[in-house]
Amino acid sequence: MRILIVNDDGVYSPGILALAEVARDLGDVLVAAPDVERSSTGHAVTHSRPLTYRRTRLPGVEAYRVDGTPADCVALGFSVWGNVDVVLSGINLGLNLGNSMWHSGTLAGAKQAALMGARGIALSAPISSSDEPDFSALKPHVSRALHALLPHSELKLVNVNFPAKPGALEWTRQSVRHYDGKVVPAKDPMGRTHYWFTVTPLEEAEPGTDRFAVEHGSISMTPLRLDLTDEAALVAQLSALRTAV
Ligand code: MN
Repeated sequence: MRILIVNDDGVYSPGILALAEVARDLGDVLVAAPDVERSSTGHAVTHSRPLTYRRTRLPGVEAYRVDGTPADCVALGFSVWGNVDVVLSGINLGLNLGNSMWHSGTLAGAKQAALMGARGIALSAPISSSDEPDFSALKPHVSRALHALLPHSELKLVNVNFPAKPGALEWTRQSVRHYDGKVVPAKDPMGRTHYWFTVTPLEEAEPGTDRFAVEHGSISMTPLRLDLTDEAALVAQLSALRTAV
């Protein structure tokens, strides 16, 4: 199995090295990741300037740093390395649950793989303000999740989130509880007003969702699709049209 590894925290993040170390036991591994942090870039691609990459040193793995987004890295990896079976994206420093999937560069790396006809798996772990995840403790759980997912070739796109102390593997749906997306004003050291985009969940997580699972100590695995069509709305509009005729 040929495994391309990407992230949105940058090629020097401890999370991508932990993921590469787990993936090395599963197939041929190549790391192609942004040269700097690109968190919350979503599925942006670079179209108005060329992309370049350089070989970089990561212990025990062939790695390249790219001056682009996570989606750029995946497209470039497919183009230069060819024949990728699965893209593993992460391990992100921070969870990607519920509505944060819309902003996630980590998930975008996996989505780009699915767009290009391969498989994509995004992996994320929680951080507190003071601490990074304990990746040596997390690695056996990452291995467990990948061993559960990889044999299922029909799963094209999966979003995986680990709690701080991972328990059982659980299949979940995306939590769609709303968030207020408030932009909060504050002052910079010169007294000028600047703004912080904040995401504050407004509702409790629903059972069966990714957020609920992680809040209760399970490893959340959410199968996703690329088709955003609202099927019910489409059917309703089409049948309204037919009635009008
Ligand atoms: Mn990130």
